[in-house]
Amino acid sequence: MTLVMKFGGTSVGSAKAIQRTANIILNNRSEWPQQVIIASAMSGVTDLLFEGATSAASGDAVTYREVAKKLRQKHFQVISELLPTGDEGQQLTAQLDKFIERYESLCKAVLVLGELTPRALDAMTSIGERMSVRLIASYLRHRGQSAQAIDATELIVTDDTFQGAVPLMDNTTVCSEARLRPLLEEGVVTVVTGFIGANEKGVVTTLGRGGSDYSAAILGQALHADEVWIWTDVDGVMTADPRLVPEAQTISTLSYREVAELAFYGAKVLHPKTIRPVVENNIPLWIKNTFHPEKSGTEIVQERSESNGDIKAVTAIRNLSLVVVEGKGMLGVPGIAARTFGAVARSNISVLLISQASSEQSICFAVPAQATKDIVSGLELEFRRELMCRDIDRITAQERVAIVTVVGAGMRGTPGIAGRLFSALGDRQVNIIAIAQGSSECSISMVVDNLDTAEAEKAIHALIISS
Ligand code: ADP
Ligand code: ASP
Ligand code: MG
Repeated sequence: MTLVMKFGGTSVGSAKAIQRTANIILNNRSEWPQQVIIASAMSGVTDLLFEGATSAASGDAVTYREVAKKLRQKHFQVISELLPTGDEGQQLTAQLDKFIERYESLCKAVLVLGELTPRALDAMTSIGERMSVRLIASYLRHRGQSAQAIDATELIVTDDTFQGAVPLMDNTTVCSEARLRPLLEEGVVTVVTGFIGANEKGVVTTLGRGGSDYSAAILGQALHADEVWIWTDVDGVMTADPRLVPEAQTISTLSYREVAELAFYGAKVLHPKTIRPVVENNIPLWIKNTFHPEKSGTEIVQERSESNGDIKAVTAIRNLSLVVVEGKGMLGVPGIAARTFGAVARSNISVLLISQASSEQSICFAVPAQATKDIVSGLELEFRRELMCRDIDRITAQERVAIVTVVGAGMRGTPGIAGRLFSALGDRQVNIIAIAQGSSECSISMVVDNLDTAEAEKAIHALIISS
């Protein structure tokens, strides 16, 4: 029986949190003798590492040194609390100091070159997880549990897409089995870095921000795990982001499809790529709270379970742009959509939502705000002939918009949902700019002004609670 448990940044963010994490691991030992632990960097560390690296690239020789100082303080403080006496604490301090030293020399190199490549950024940001797993494994040993820290560079083999690497599952399966299984069979708790991997040449890559959830799913698949548990700082997947909607409630069961839609449309509680490896391998997935392990959390199941209420949750992504291609000459002309999205794909941007008016006189789609300029100029180039002869009148972008998405498999076949949503928003004076419904009818997304996002979420949440 193999259990993969992932602990997020807050769950390993302080000495107290690491103690709780260790308690959870130890309390589950008898039921789950083979445990693979995936850990994130301590909370705030990855952000700091990014900040130091990018500031060095812009010629700032001060910030990265401050970052290094903060990293030392943060980690050494926790070591002194968790391992106050003995050699283990000293050895660990020396080890982590080496990682931070190396980070500083990379920052120095970036400062001199004035250039930060995605590959260098991955090397620099990977040290957060490398440090946290060593800390956790040392503490588990201190508690009398044999444990080993392992860098996922030895396990997760990826392609060369730095900052968004894709795992090569065949190689990953072979490496993970060979490296982890003998340790697991000996009863060693393996503590593996989330977020990172390495390409076939052994160069470190990262899976993208928030990618430790994905690491857990990848190793769950590679090791044919019986279950994957994601431990975080909330009671499970909730009806809305509890930071924005304090009345949000925990959802006890959600289907893979529902949680996939939620994750894709901004619910940070789970990285969107986590779902596929677990659903394809039929691995039960749980989301639980490290700070309230007695609560049952959220179970992700194959199919929609019985639910009262059709709308289950609301989520939002802010800071987007809505790009509109419009023109009377587009009416019925084949190939405009294909060319539009072909041009967008060349900018290497993924589109979050697409909507087309039935008259075919306009196509609009939402993209991250920072991509707007590139996309609009790419489209102007693609359609320069059509723009010249006025088949396309204009290509514009409405900036500062958000997508608010409602999710719930029970919406399928339930009439009147859209009407209820629109009146709830209308009652609060929220203007809907565009709408799209997922073909599975498991989600409806609405584009609203950035400034209306919180109001829209609250209005929809009131519907969820009252249904
Ligand atoms: P971790 O470091 O454990 O991976 P994250 O910060 O990445 O944790 O994700 C957990 C956070 O996700 C929560 O603190 C919460 O603010 C946010 N969140 C957003 N939407 C939801 C939701 N629908 N349910 C639960 N949490 C959500
Ligand atoms: N530490 C990484 C990040 O902050 C990965 C993770 O926490 O999932 O993005
Ligand atoms: Mg996360």
